[in-house]
Amino acid sequence: MAAPNRGRRDRVTASQRGFQKRLSPVTFYAASPMFERPRGTNDWGPEDMAKRRFVESRFVQLAESFGFREVSTPTFESLELFTAKSGPAIVRELYAFKDQGGRDLALRPEFTASILRFYVSDLRSRPKPLKLYSTGNVFRYEEPQKGRYREFSQVNAEIIGGAALPSDAEVIALAIGTMRAIGLKQVKARIGNIGILRGFLPFASADQAVVLHSLDKRNFPMLDAELDRLGRPDLSKALRQLVELSGDVSVLDQAAKILGSEASAGFEYLRKIADLLDAYGVSRRDYAFDMGVVRGLDYYTGMVFEIDSPNLGAEKQVGGGGAYNLAEVFGGERIAQTGFALGLDRLVMAAEAERATEPPRPLDAYVVPIGEGVQKKAIEVLTSLRAAGLGADIDLVGRGPSKNLDYANAIGARYAVLLGEKELKASKATVRDMASGVQREVPLADLVEAILSRPAARGPEPAKPKRRAAGTRAVRSRRR
Ligand code: AMP
Repeated sequence: MAAPNRGRRDRVTASQRGFQKRLSPVTFYAASPMFERPRGTNDWGPEDMAKRRFVESRFVQLAESFGFREVSTPTFESLELFTAKSGPAIVRELYAFKDQGGRDLALRPEFTASILRFYVSDLRSRPKPLKLYSTGNVFRYEEPQKGRYREFSQVNAEIIGGAALPSDAEVIALAIGTMRAIGLKQVKARIGNIGILRGFLPFASADQAVVLHSLDKRNFPMLDAELDRLGRPDLSKALRQLVELSGDVSVLDQAAKILGSEASAGFEYLRKIADLLDAYGVSRRDYAFDMGVVRGLDYYTGMVFEIDSPNLGAEKQVGGGGAYNLAEVFGGERIAQTGFALGLDRLVMAAEAERATEPPRPLDAYVVPIGEGVQKKAIEVLTSLRAAGLGADIDLVGRGPSKNLDYANAIGARYAVLLGEKELKASKATVRDMASGVQREVPLADLVEAILSRPAARGPEPAKPKRRAAGTRAVRSRRR
């Protein structure tokens, strides 16, 4: 954030600084290198952004291919939207503030509440099911650590108004499919059913929420204290056994034995999900059934799932979701809703750990005008390369040819297109393959073709340049 302003300080003299300080402290302080990012936020440089876009685009492409369509909602909402969904205690976890009109607002901590608000206010009359996705930044007032930030990004998908079972299977298939599309092989989903647990807990919803919270955190002393308070200490053993169950479809039989026949429909539901996921081509190795997936939030109603990367240490969860009921809470009708959010920051970390990110697309051509008087023609050549869909850049500094080749090398351009007066008179350019150092003359009419058709040579030993363009010196490739 501070970076773009750094250079400005050099251009401001001491007396000007004094002047600015008196007149406009903002200008002065903005020029200072002393600013730091707010706690829990990140700057993302070009290499980071390339990875983030790669991961995000894999989700977007897959979601679109599944028939999901993108929606966008505000970055801030009325505070009440989140307290209505999660209770007043949520305020401590939010960036909540009053605007200048005295309205209570909060930066969004997730997408689901906004999308369901949007559904209830504007999208209800659309044909069902609605399949919606969003991507963007979200904000939570948390204790920052590796993989846990105060501003982070999520990709999010929701299905509203489908039948529960096929919709649940569809969102799990999209979530696990996104992992595979990114190239992540080591992540694994855990699928549970909070509806089964809710059915087993004969308590009012507030008490149920406290018990579920203690199970989510595996805080068994708290669980026992709550069950004692509620007069049902006898449930403790079964609940402890249940949340420890994780594995293939056979754990559903074990869980059914613990809970008895009343829960059988919930287990049958999970078996049917496994069958549908088979049909989607989702391998049974890609997920486990896990009765301990509780997902802290009290609006989940049925199937719930989480996805973990084994490479991320303490903050290993890359995503989670499930079936929930929010439309009604926001004044809409009772309708099936299911969805998930994946944490982009952690997905990128997981992709880096598994070496799954793709290198960013290199710049195809860097145009080097040589000598006075060729600049306009060089811009025309540049523009024709760009118009052909190539990534092309040009000297904006007025460097000499050899410095320009150093720069082309440093930014990883595949080709340098050297344009001197002599070449231009003959309607030609000298094209230098930056990886090999090989140069050749190409008629301007064939330039696009030459750059498109010849992949960059990436041999381990760069070949010696055969000949050099006028006014250039040899540049050894530093690219690996
Ligand atoms: P949630 O909305 O809490 O289910 O979170 C969905 C996903 O967002 C999680 O699985 C994480 O990958 C990611 N996530 C949640 N909180 C944070 C955070 N503070 N910093 C970075 N990623 C987060």
